[in-house]
Amino acid sequence: MHPAIHVTGLNKSFGGKQVLFDLGLAVEPGEMVALIGASGSGKSTLLRHLAGLACGNRHDSSSIRVLGQSVQAEGRLNGQVRRLRAEIGYIFQQFNLVGRLSVLSNVLLGRLGRMPRWRGSLGLFSQEEKQRAMAALERVGLAEYAHRRASTLSGGQQQRVAIARALTQEAEVILADEPIASLDPESARKVMDILADINEKDGKTVVVTLHQVDYAVRYCERVVALKAGRIHYDGTVQALSGTFLNDLYDGDLDTGL
Ligand code: ADP
Ligand code: MG
Repeated sequence: MHPAIHVTGLNKSFGGKQVLFDLGLAVEPGEMVALIGASGSGKSTLLRHLAGLACGNRHDSSSIRVLGQSVQAEGRLNGQVRRLRAEIGYIFQQFNLVGRLSVLSNVLLGRLGRMPRWRGSLGLFSQEEKQRAMAALERVGLAEYAHRRASTLSGGQQQRVAIARALTQEAEVILADEPIASLDPESARKVMDILADINEKDGKTVVVTLHQVDYAVRYCERVVALKAGRIHYDGTVQALSGTFLNDLYDGDLDTGL
């Protein structure tokens, strides 16, 4: 079986300033990995590359494969890359819902990448797709909010809607960039519980960037730590020591405790 994620030789510069250095990473199907590191260490840049939302530097030998296929679209977004993107669910710190649409409509948007374009552009969802979306809302505990405008929900609820959208998408790989950074502890716990549940019960691969180390320790077996664009640690959470963490954050450690 292919690794869920396989990156080799990833370099990235912005305007002459290199921010990722020869990164290599392999994640097996069904793993839940925390990506940690100080602000500016390159977590979001790496995650965007995994989703095919950014390109490595031209002319280098970077390879980014998800489920055995390259995410790098050469030129036009071809059908194969489009299908691969449908397998990748992306969760943002700021939820990225369409505030004026209903919660249910937002969840249905997860289907767009899997529909013929004409049907998607008309918003013609089948009964089965609507049932699937409702089941996803049920799962994140928000079925009763289906017909509310998304913007009227709390931050924690909106993030759970975003997860329901990824569930409805039936994404095999879920990439979550600081999904709990804007949430209070109780909402953060609910969001992390749902991500862990999807990982355990559905066997989805989850990579989650976390600023607060205690959540990584609580929820993830494996931790990958970036420091200044390089992988500084990749191993079990048990082997992570306090000294190491202090070094990682240059003494500016936010344990979230
Ligand atoms: P993190 O998510 O770990 O906080 P980022 O991946 O956002 O780190 O950023 C890594 C580095 O890349 C930082 O120095 C940041 O300023 C820089 N960077 C990120 N995105 C851009 C961009 N679009 N243009 C220029 N520099 C960027
Ligand atoms: Mg970031």
